Order: sequence, then structure tokens, then C-alpha cells
Amino acid sequence: MKYKLSVLATLLLATPTSLLAATTPTPQYPEVTEQLFAQCKADFALLAKQQGVTDDTITRALLPASLQAKVIEYDRNQPEFVRTFPDYVSKRVNDWRINKGREMLKEHSALLQSLNQRYGIPAHYLVAFWGLETNFGQYKGKMPIVASLATLACDERRSEFFTKELLKALQLIEKERIDPEQMVGSWAGAMGHTQFMPSAYLNYAIDGDNDGKADLWNSVPDALTSAANFLQGLGWKPGFRWGREVKLPDNFDYQLIGRSTKKSLTEWQGLGLTKADGSPLGAAEIKASVLLPAGHEGPAFVIYDNFSVIMRWNFSEFYAIAVGYLADRLIGSGELVQPLPELPTYTIADMRTLQVNLNQLGFDVGEPDGILGPATRNGIQGFQVAHKLVADGFPSLRVFEKLQQLTGETSTN
Ligand code: CA
Repeated sequence: MKYKLSVLATLLLATPTSLLAATTPTPQYPEVTEQLFAQCKADFALLAKQQGVTDDTITRALLPASLQAKVIEYDRNQPEFVRTFPDYVSKRVNDWRINKGREMLKEHSALLQSLNQRYGIPAHYLVAFWGLETNFGQYKGKMPIVASLATLACDERRSEFFTKELLKALQLIEKERIDPEQMVGSWAGAMGHTQFMPSAYLNYAIDGDNDGKADLWNSVPDALTSAANFLQGLGWKPGFRWGREVKLPDNFDYQLIGRSTKKSLTEWQGLGLTKADGSPLGAAEIKASVLLPAGHEGPAFVIYDNFSVIMRWNFSEFYAIAVGYLADRLIGSGELVQPLPELPTYTIADMRTLQVNLNQLGFDVGEPDGILGPATRNGIQGFQVAHKLVADGFPSLRVFEKLQQLTGETSTN
């Protein structure tokens, strides 16, 4: 597939009304004004006090925090295009990260070995997280954490989550005796080498270099020890991989893909799956699911329990594959066997149109939101089965074309 034009451009220009029909209004939230922010901060100060935060911390850390208009802007900033797996993974698991990661494995080998012994997390996974989160500490973010979290807590969209994190941030300042001015990170509150949210920092950070403080900004031993402790806490199973690339048999039943279907490797092997190079998968009672992040023309993966652990760190299948694949590359594995397919560029509007059209034809995908989630994949799969297309649940150009044919006809009449 060599489509460079947006699906919208190739398919929808002829029937622009379908796009209008597809656009669902995004919910509006009240503007966070200076006045609202001041009131919200005052209310939060009372709550924090009830939770045992001292007046001193409230005065030093919370009261000077100013409204961060940019944070609201970042939070509202909807991407125009749907992220595709080939684009995502090729940008993240790149030569620079692989080479730098291998250097880091060597440079910190003693520390990493001891962490593997103590926590059961192999070195190459820790380094993969580190590389993906901050380019091994090169970019840790410079936004003021308390002010950013306070802004998000005072905004209705995700107020509950960020109110909790803001409280944790204040508790963290007390526990680790952090200077609030030095507490910087991403606009959404993630901090240090491995981008811990305040709750993770508070619960899992470890003083790895024994200087009396868990400092995830300035100490690599602290950051990597904390990452190992966090992964152990999230349920990492020592001795197991994240998953691996596999090859599906020609007669594969695509209804079996997705994290909700689990079978043992023995069962998958019985269904004809092999390792990507064609060698036996190996019979084992390990439970695994099959993922096809770029459709049936792209690479296939089996994923194990540790994949879910990675997703507890960051709830994204693409992210979890990138961690696992980068970890493998760091210790010498080659590139993916199945080349990444060139996919058409989908805009969010394209995806909404697809969802509206599927709903219209009776393949329920829920409220059209422009996001390719499990419900949309199921709807696509049902549509593919009904129209004798490869039922991989993937929005290929053929799916868009077929849908456009069917719904374009009805809507123009
Ligand atoms: Ca330390």
C-alpha cells in the first residue's frame, strides 16, 4: 500500500456532507478563569489540610502556584491525525535510541545487574523505559508541577484524577523535602528520568544511592531503582518476556486477535502460529493474546502477562510494544521480520466518519469519537465478515472504500 494522501482527501471530497454529519461536538468545559482558579485553590487548600498537609507546605508550594493557561491548551489540543503503529514505532524505536540504550546498558551495568537480582526486572527493560520516557534523562520536562496539576485539578475535564495527584504532589514535597521550585516535569505532572506521576513517586520511589533522598530528577540510581520497584509493584513476572513477533498461518481466524482472547502458547502453536522466522513457538502453558497493530499486512505479536504490566505504566498497546521491541533490540535482536506497511494517513475526522457509517449500517461502535478503540475494531470486524474482507478489525483503505460506497449512496439520495 502506497497511499500518501489522506483518506479524507481521496474518498470524502466528493461527499463533503458526510463529514459534517460525522462531526460530533467535543464537550465544552467552563473556562478556568483567574477567579475560578483562586477559589478552587482555596478549596483545595482546605482539603489538603484535612489530609494532613502542613500550613507551611500549603503556603510555600500551593499558594504561589499560578494558573497555567498553556496546560489547558495542551490538554485540549486534539491531534488532527490518527497515530498509526508504523509511524509510532519507527519514530520511537530508532537507531539513536538503540545505540544510546546499548551505551547506557554498559555504563550502568553493575547497578542494572543488582536491580535485576533484587527486583527481577531485566536491565534491557529498565533502559527501554528510560529511553522512551526521557531519552535517558535528556528531556525531563520544565513545567512547574504543582501549578500544572493545580490547573488541571481546577479544570472540569479530569478534575478528580488531577486533584488526587495534586494532593500526592504536596505530600511528596513533605516526604522528600523537595523545593517546590525545583519540582518540574511534563505539563501533565510526570517527573524525572522515568516520568513518575506524584502518586507513583510517593509510593514507589527509592533512594538508590543512599544519600537520604529519592531524587528522580538528578540521580540515575534513584530513578532506575524506583522504576524497578514500580514495575515489581505493577506485577512484573520475573523470567518472562513481554511477548514476541510471530507469524500467523494463512488460515488464521482473525476473530481471535485482541487482548480479550487468551490462549496458552501450546494452543496458539496448535493453531499454526510460529515465531516470526518460522521456527516453533514452543509449547508452554504461558497465556498469550495476539495483536495486529497495523492490520493483517503488518507484523503480528503474541503478548504475555508482562505486556499488561507495561500497559499499567502507560495504557497504550503501541507504547507497550515499543518498550518490548526496544528492549529486545538493546540486547541484539534484529528488526521486525514483517516490514511495517505503509498505511494511508487517517485524520480523526476520517475515523469519526467511519464510525458514523458503521453505526448507520448496524455495526455498533458506540459514540463516534474518532478513536480506534476496541468497540470500533469490533464494528469493523463485523463489517469485514459481512462483506467477505479479511476480518482483522483494521481500518484499511478497502474498508473505507467499501463503507463509502454503501453509505455515500444512501446519504446523497
Ligand atoms: Ca538518592
